[in-house]
Amino acid sequence: MGPTKAVVKQQALYDAVSGKLIQGGFSSYRALAEYVKQHYIVLPVHDNAGKPWQLDGKPIYCLHGVQYETVDDRRVHLTRCPDCGGMGVRTEEFTVESDCIRCAGCGRECDARLEMMET
Ligand SMILES: [Zn+2]
Repeated sequence: MGPTKAVVKQQALYDAVSGKLIQGGFSSYRALAEYVKQHYIVLPVHDNAGKPWQLDGKPIYCLHGVQYETVDDRRVHLTRCPDCGGMGVRTEEFTVESDCIRCAGCGRECDARLEMMET
């Protein structure tokens, strides 16, 4: 079992799958973030501007710092854009060899293999 995937609505935490309230009444986002840290909970990935990543209208979660998953535990091949923190999606019209990633936020394109070598 992985961590609980949660969504934030009006300073309350809800289970992203069942929609059930996990914990509410947080006085600040900081208090909420503190609660998330102490429990086995992950929040949706946001870009640098605080806009949540969305794939087909669903939030995306980052597990173990490297692996991206949808709410229903489907692994997705995504990369964080180095410019804006936006969601980098593999462009499918390219061949497998090129492995090109396109940012959904700012439109930046980069080679995924190149990015891996740099970091
Ligand atoms: Zn970007």
